[in-house]
Amino acid sequence: MIQILPVTGPKEPYKTYPEGEFMRRKLAAGNWKMNGLLASLTEIKTLASLPQTDCEVLICPPVTLIHAMAEICQDTAVLIGAQDCHAAECGAHTGDISAQMLHEAGAKYVILGHSERRGDHGESDELIRQKTLAAWSADLTAIVCVGESEQQRLEGTTLDIIGAQLAASIPDGATAENLVVAYEPIWAIGTGRVPTLGDIAQVHDFMRKTLSNRFGDIAANVRLLYGGSMNPGNVAEISGVSNVDGGLVGGASLKAQDFAKIISALGQ
Ligand code: PEP
Repeated sequence: MIQILPVTGPKEPYKTYPEGEFMRRKLAAGNWKMNGLLASLTEIKTLASLPQTDCEVLICPPVTLIHAMAEICQDTAVLIGAQDCHAAECGAHTGDISAQMLHEAGAKYVILGHSERRGDHGESDELIRQKTLAAWSADLTAIVCVGESEQQRLEGTTLDIIGAQLAASIPDGATAENLVVAYEPIWAIGTGRVPTLGDIAQVHDFMRKTLSNRFGDIAANVRLLYGGSMNPGNVAEISGVSNVDGGLVGGASLKAQDFAKIISALGQ
């Protein structure tokens, strides 16, 4: 009978057993996108008051709410993150935010390379690689997003696209503590459409193998999230897919009641 040791810290990506085995902790990451005003702090207060599960909980609000949310969530199981950062430490970049500023505001994670940033702002894999390095310098864990368009899936090039994005967006030096990868098929984001469980497994197994080939043993502990129309109704079956270590959730993370169901299913 294996005894589960207490989780040693809020950012510990895995738990270890006396036998030296490990199990990756699931991560429920909410991406609020450009949603949320001060009134939305009530949602965070609700989340922060929920009983703690074994699933790590992260909310990435708009930058205007990071500090207030981090204060509310201090000494709770809920972590706060950001949705983007600039690649530079400081300088003449009007309107941009550095990783260090996010860290100072209370962020622990930052989402990088979301398809909406890649699309709306023309972000390249190389820029995302540079932003990831900036995040690491500021002691933020990077959640690097990859995913194919519908056209690419129809053409059968999904794994080629994912492989190229992983290779060019993730810098050398990745560890289970500083990197999370999110697979987000672009056509599944905000559409209510989700790949088959088999298709999710194929991509996640491929990502694990690709990271192992490059980073060796540490890749076994890097969390791989699925994102794209995850909701309380489909989270349990997606969570059961091999190499799915949690979810990156948009719409269904805005209401504490919905997100709590997702956290609970991932924590099973
Ligand atoms: C996202 O934007 O990262 C996302 C997964 O959105 P949704 O859950 O709304 O599809």
